Amino acid sequence: MPTPRLVIHGGCGAIPKAEMTPARAESFRASLRASLTAGWTVLAAGGSALDAVTAAIVVMEDDPNFNAGHGSAFNDEGFHEVDASIMEGQSLLAGAIAAAREIRNPIKVVAELARRNADPLMLAGAGADAWARANGFAMVDNGYYSTQWRREALEQIRQRAKAGTLAAAPESEKHGTVGAVALDAAGHLAAGTSTGGYTGKLVGRIGDSPIIGAGTWADDRTCAISATGKGEFFIRKALAHEIHARMRWGGRSLAQACDEMIHGELDGWAAGAGLVAIDAQGNFTLPFNTEGMYRGHASAAGVEVDIYR
Ligand code: ASP
Repeated sequence: MPTPRLVIHGGCGAIPKAEMTPARAESFRASLRASLTAGWTVLAAGGSALDAVTAAIVVMEDDPNFNAGHGSAFNDEGFHEVDASIMEGQSLLAGAIAAAREIRNPIKVVAELARRNADPLMLAGAGADAWARANGFAMVDNGYYSTQWRREALEQIRQRAKAGTLAAAPESEKHGTVGAVALDAAGHLAAGTSTGGYTGKLVGRIGDSPIIGAGTWADDRTCAISATGKGEFFIRKALAHEIHARMRWGGRSLAQACDEMIHGELDGWAAGAGLVAIDAQGNFTLPFNTEGMYRGHASAAGVEVDIYR
């Protein structure tokens, strides 16, 4: 019998260590623990990996500490468009939404798209909002996603753009994302990812998070992956599917395949990157190349959370 396990991230755009106060760090840790507890409760009761991933991500979407749902990054016109996806490893069913503007919990909507046989699998913009509304999901005004902290990040990014110092922006000003991967007691995997994307992104810009095979992947034969970081690079590398392929056809272990991507393939691309990953045996890894990544894992042995290296 596999040992159920849940692994989460709250993005590789952690606040620089030098600027993090103990109180703020504890707030992030409490948020991570709340997410893990919600997801673990599902797994401990014999629930599915898909439901555990959904439960864990709902908590982070509702939490203003993270760039997903309430707390999402602002785009360059000062409002929000959110992306999310989910995938189940036994059936390979998946669901995704991109550039949605009014869905309170994107992860709930993509889970429902997956459950309904993934047809349609992916909905964008007004069509995603309309489908969620027609199917009874909680809807919000776009301002629901806004927080003062993210508004300040947009101001910083605008000033940096004017001054030509964008490259020096800390990861925390730019982005974030939340994600979860799980192995359930039946031996099945699932992965989910939800994000507000990049601070100052163009209206209509879609990142890796809703792209199955880029930011999210689950296949019981290999692994479940949720990524965070510069989405444009992950799409070009088919990051999450590439890890699956290296395991399936290249004989790599989960840790090897993930390290090759985060610490090898992305070298020289100046891409802040991180991910959480679990395989069908319950091995897991949480690599990142930034200063910190909000992260944690839960199993019958307990809950652990961390931020910096
Ligand atoms: N991957 C997300 C995106 O590109 C952002 C992030 O994870 O920080 O939209």
